[in-house]
Amino acid sequence: MSWVATHCPYCALQCGMTLRTGGSGSVEVGARDFPTNRGGLCQKGWTAAELLDHPERLTSPLLHGEPVSWGVALDFVAGRIRELQAAHGRDAVAVFGGGGLTNEKAYALGKFARIVLGTRYIDYNGRFCMSSAAAAGIRAFGIDRGLPFPLADLAGADTLMMVGANVSETMPPLARYLSEQTEAGGTLIVIDPRATPTARRATIHLQPTPGTDLALALGLLHLVISEGYVDREYVRSRTTGWDEVAKVAAAWWPGRVERLAGIPAADLERAAHALGRAGNAIVVTARGAEQHAKGTDTVSAFINLALALGLPGRPGSGYGCLTGQGNGQGGREHGQKADQLPGYRRIDDPAARAHLAKVWGVSTMDIPGAGVSATELLDRLGTADGPKALLVFGSNPVVSAPRATRVADRLRALDLLVVADFVRSETAQLADVVLPTAQWAEEDGTMTNLEGRVLRRRALRKPPPGVRTDLGVLAELAGRLGYGGRFHTEPEAVFEELRRASAGGPADYAGVTWERIDADNGVFWPCPTDDHPGTPRLFTERFATPDGRARFTPVDHRPPAELPCADFPLYLTTGRVLAQYQSGAQTRRIAPLTKAAPHAFVELHPELADSMSIVDGETVRLVSRRGAAELPARVVDTIRPDTLFAPFHWPGINALTNDALDPTSRMPEFKVCAARLEKLT
Ligand code: SF4
Repeated sequence: MSWVATHCPYCALQCGMTLRTGGSGSVEVGARDFPTNRGGLCQKGWTAAELLDHPERLTSPLLHGEPVSWGVALDFVAGRIRELQAAHGRDAVAVFGGGGLTNEKAYALGKFARIVLGTRYIDYNGRFCMSSAAAAGIRAFGIDRGLPFPLADLAGADTLMMVGANVSETMPPLARYLSEQTEAGGTLIVIDPRATPTARRATIHLQPTPGTDLALALGLLHLVISEGYVDREYVRSRTTGWDEVAKVAAAWWPGRVERLAGIPAADLERAAHALGRAGNAIVVTARGAEQHAKGTDTVSAFINLALALGLPGRPGSGYGCLTGQGNGQGGREHGQKADQLPGYRRIDDPAARAHLAKVWGVSTMDIPGAGVSATELLDRLGTADGPKALLVFGSNPVVSAPRATRVADRLRALDLLVVADFVRSETAQLADVVLPTAQWAEEDGTMTNLEGRVLRRRALRKPPPGVRTDLGVLAELAGRLGYGGRFHTEPEAVFEELRRASAGGPADYAGVTWERIDADNGVFWPCPTDDHPGTPRLFTERFATPDGRARFTPVDHRPPAELPCADFPLYLTTGRVLAQYQSGAQTRRIAPLTKAAPHAFVELHPELADSMSIVDGETVRLVSRRGAAELPARVVDTIRPDTLFAPFHWPGINALTNDALDPTSRMPEFKVCAARLEKLT
């Protein structure tokens, strides 16, 4: 059988790969020379097909745990939705989406929530990983596209600074660009409280106290100013708001940063010189900087630094963020967010509402207003005034949401929980109804990678008997709820509608067609017309603000929501490991990945281990104000003595994390909370 060219189901690098059905009937994965991954795949990509015929794969809907026909399951769901909305109003039903859904599904889900359910309650798990960078990007540039330049630019930077990004483990094929960059004599600066595999590649590794990245950025800006590295002409001609930002930075001299963040002043100075003297420099942030209750301001601080150096919009230089989830970029553009309509339009913009009302054939009055963010939505479920039902597509919040024990309690309090998934994830285990859906190799669609490049996902085979696509499920439910014929089941037809829906919006896909994607290895948005070439590089002439200038934002350091104290004397930070992905619902079921990373653990420094007489491998109790977990200790000298690290792919870790929210993005503070370790003996 011939190979089908597609992309990996997991992260936002969306590595090109090929699939074919082998002689034994099993699906084989092959390498593909795509411009981003250039033939490389990580272990997750190579093993992705193992889930397709997994014994735990669901092939029948479940109603209260028992297999039922699709007709029975969908009739039950539609009936309960009608009853609950009749009794409690349209907001009684909420929707929770995911950053791994294709553009077509994300679009259809948002449309379903707004016009079929008429609920304002829709948000998605991308709120947990991308929202701070998105908010800061819009604040500065007027638009949010993770990388506003092609990924390959990273290799050509004289200085590349990565803040809270561990690509060697999360996106291994991307690490090649770092090798090329340093082999060509470039300086790689990595900011991370852990000496991760990425940090160990760095020319300069800055290892700050968790929760102090913003101060570190201010310290770098202070030095950029005092050493005369500010690009005055760029600041004058392409930006606004510089003076206020410079005033804040004046108070962050290196000694002050050293005392607060634990970064030696000399290291800070080396980093500032490397940035200031570079011909081309790129600053990149990721979850380490963003998943904080001040994540938006932290990203703004790094954008301010990049703007002061004159980087954004200059070919070969710039600022960008590394999107995490597979369709983290496209998934945040087409209407899954509580405050958003397709094309990255605002739901409170009358012109946007009028445009979408026309595309959807409804009145603007029929489109609800803004809802609340993911964490707030989950927190409201089953409360007196909150939603009584939740439909979940492509997400496993029982594992991935902060303060996860509370989330599970809220889900149990619902009158109706419906989960569409292909396995019984931890969230599906709590559901009244589980709807078995197709996997990535069984349906067509588009994804938008971390560069803003719209890609084609191509089906190798049909879904197994008993399994339906998410688009099919939404169309069936819409039909039962009085909206028959309003939802396409064919992905390309949905994409054609998405093109019209996004036309004229900030994320404009109007000129993107599946044929063009096939012909050109993807199309970069914005692409407003059929003859527009797409936009690999943004901001070369102007920014997407009303006056065309980038906006400096004055931001100052503030402490995390929780600081260590007598009862919880340590910082806890969370993150990923190479062999697992997000909540692990998929990767924890793949044997080679489970073998490589079988369980959660807690990393601690040898000094801390000695002081508590903890030995490597010993089971210890990790405790925060919200919960506790018993985990094997990993004693490593790659972490700060005051900090603990645990990977979040397993149930229980996010029971500990803090759901304190960023005031702008509503991103929870996954990356830092106060914790203690206890010996079990
Ligand atoms: S780096 Fe990401 S996209 Fe590439 S193979 Fe690994 S998980 Fe898949």
